[in-house]
Amino acid sequence: MNRAQPQDWYRLQTKGDGITLIDEPHIEEFYRCNIWHVRGRDGDMLVDSGMGVVSLRTWVPLVTERPLEAVASHTHFDHIGCHHEFDCRSCHEAEAAILADPTRAATLADPYVTDEIFTTLPPEPYESARYAVKSAPATRILQDRDRIDLGDRSFEVIHTPGHSPGGIALWEEATGILFSGDIVYDGPLIEDTYHANAEDYVASMKRLLDLPVRVVHGGHFASYDGERHREIIRNWLESKGL
Ligand SMILES: [Zn+2]
Ligand SMILES: [Zn+2]
Repeated sequence: MNRAQPQDWYRLQTKGDGITLIDEPHIEEFYRCNIWHVRGRDGDMLVDSGMGVVSLRTWVPLVTERPLEAVASHTHFDHIGCHHEFDCRSCHEAEAAILADPTRAATLADPYVTDEIFTTLPPEPYESARYAVKSAPATRILQDRDRIDLGDRSFEVIHTPGHSPGGIALWEEATGILFSGDIVYDGPLIEDTYHANAEDYVASMKRLLDLPVRVVHGGHFASYDGERHREIIRNWLESKGL
């Protein structure tokens, strides 16, 4: 398989509301994480940081322009690979141990990371068999209802366990914007990871259904509006007989 050039690894798309989607187009869509950059008056927020196979700081200057808090929606390998490049790192307390010691098993790199998840391989010296996320201990531990404050805008942390124990969504009530992580997005949801919990998953979905959402930016796949948000969750609950 061919190797990508580092300057071609990331792709940026502006989404309005000061939000930029950064993603890794050479990763198969199902495994490709959405990295969200949010501009605020006093600082920026990054929601997730991709696989970490190419430096985000080196190749995406946007993330170095202002003070930035790198939040982890959860600690699977596809979401926290570049967290070690940032000075301010936050995640929910239930996954702080994984962010500090992101083993291949704990981050799901084992079994998911093989050459098959790429359409073009990352630059040398990348090797799937040796891939591992670097340690990036949280400098701030988040709990339900904490806030990420960017000066003129503020996001509430909503603890959404189920896909993983420390999953969080970030909710901006003033705009109706929800960053949902992997608990819900418009694609196949993963409910069978080693630390998934079915009961928690249902409770998290019910909580997100009640939010007056205008737009959802998920951990994978395309963004969608509030109507689609409620449709996805209602269909999911119905499929569980709820
Ligand atoms: Zn995940
Ligand atoms: Zn993911």
